[in-house]
Amino acid sequence: MDVHTKKQRSFNMSQIKSRDTTCECTFRKYLWSQGIRGYRKHAKMPGKPDLFFPAKKLAVFIDGCFWHKCSKCFVKPASNSQFWRKKIGNNVEHDRKVDTILRKNGIIVLRIWEHEIRRNVQSCSRELIKRLNQL
Ligand SMILES: [Zn+2]
Repeated sequence: MDVHTKKQRSFNMSQIKSRDTTCECTFRKYLWSQGIRGYRKHAKMPGKPDLFFPAKKLAVFIDGCFWHKCSKCFVKPASNSQFWRKKIGNNVEHDRKVDTILRKNGIIVLRIWEHEIRRNVQSCSRELIKRLNQL
């Protein structure tokens, strides 16, 4: 039974959509605890990466498993499936375009899935630190 009213549901959706997701916050807090500094949040560049390290030219995106169609977690919504397919299809296409534009501009793109952060924020951070050290 869906106990949410329509109003509530659209509020919940807007919360999910907001960029400052819990996952991103968890990740940033963890990075801070590891002494990682020197990044900008949601820099004004294509795709507005969640984190951007200007000195290293590295952009980090934390992709929500639903909104970006993670192959491991994505579950097709039962209702309004056509609407969602289009919407999420557009997101995925947009992601690819963003990656191409950024790479053309010499920026390295690192995408991390929401579920990876939920599962193991340490290993996500290790991966990022490894990449930063290589640059
Ligand atoms: Zn996932």
